[in-house]
Amino acid sequence: MTRLTVPPGSLFGPANLPYGVYSAAGAPPRIGTRYGDHVIDLGLLLGESGPDAVFAEPVLNPFMAQGHDRWIAVRRRIGAAVTGDVPEEAVHPADEVRMLMPFDVADYVDFYASEHHASNLGRLFRPDNPSPLMPNWKHLPVGYHGRAASVVVSGTDITRPCGQRKGPADPAPVFGPSARLDIEAEVGFVVGTGNPMGEPVDVADAGNRIFGAVLFNDWSARDIQAWEYVPLGPNLGKSFASTVSPWVVPLLALDAARVDTPPQEPAVLPYLALDRPWGLDIAVEIEWNGQVVSRPPYAAMYWSPAQMLAHLTVNGAPTRTGDLFASGTISGPARDQRGAFIELTWGGQEPVTVAGEPRAFLRDGDEVVLTATAPGADGTRIGFGEARGRVLPAGKDHRCT
Ligand code: MN
Repeated sequence: MTRLTVPPGSLFGPANLPYGVYSAAGAPPRIGTRYGDHVIDLGLLLGESGPDAVFAEPVLNPFMAQGHDRWIAVRRRIGAAVTGDVPEEAVHPADEVRMLMPFDVADYVDFYASEHHASNLGRLFRPDNPSPLMPNWKHLPVGYHGRAASVVVSGTDITRPCGQRKGPADPAPVFGPSARLDIEAEVGFVVGTGNPMGEPVDVADAGNRIFGAVLFNDWSARDIQAWEYVPLGPNLGKSFASTVSPWVVPLLALDAARVDTPPQEPAVLPYLALDRPWGLDIAVEIEWNGQVVSRPPYAAMYWSPAQMLAHLTVNGAPTRTGDLFASGTISGPARDQRGAFIELTWGGQEPVTVAGEPRAFLRDGDEVVLTATAPGADGTRIGFGEARGRVLPAGKDHRCT
């Protein structure tokens, strides 16, 4: 047995206790939590019998499916266990394990919940419209269905996608590697207990069904997207890859991060109405080749996660354990709070300086890292780890010519 200590200022203290899946020395995947600088095996810490058999699984889905009461009870047990005698074989230095995809993604939907982002893109793409927001925007959380199979864990390389595009000056569409590869800094929410078909999630109950949150990079090929999206929305310009951070921060750990959303005016329809719709005070940072270029504030998001889940199911659509819905690009009011490069550089017209060079979109070899922190219990801060991805050149195997 051993006793664990947490370095002062650690973002993975007892107020966090996130869930992830790791592999040590190439061994099969195991479920763990992060405590200070260590990954702690939950099966070895808590046992694997009875309902705890879920900790012998290679993904979090069976545990998430056990529901909110069980999440509360297990979190208490982990909190008590990590501060006591811990079996030595359960403890791994965090930098000696490989983090894997923490859950099987059932379905994936991406929203568009930032008023600042939606307004900026409206001004960029529809400069002649009297209002930058579309008429529906303040009445429902706009979203589209993405591709669950291409959600990958932090550290997975991103191959530049090829596709069809047609610039304003091109007489006909051309095919080739995207020339406007971009990111979208978002927070993703993992559904723990879904709803049966025909039984929508009540907006007041949605918070009990969301298991936790991850960082989410919705890699976007703007040139492919611009040509394909009319009239049905994003498709191949997004579906080639999305990156999640490996630690799922429990919603229970984010109680202290709850804040009111900005005022919602006009009033929303009853199925979206809460006395006090809650957002989360998550401070995100975007690093481009090691340099912080933006700090998007999640607290500025107009639509709350509970409203997104209520809207997602109000037509009777079922959700399942492992469903992932992402917030959409997080942008604040200031320029250096914009969560996508197309917006940060105003369509490429106002480049940012990265390592002394003016830059607008991603080059091969570029690396983007999202990180985030939030207030935790007892005045501490908790961390999300990182969502990291490096751009590889479009390959021959992608039939790019
Ligand atoms: Mn997005």
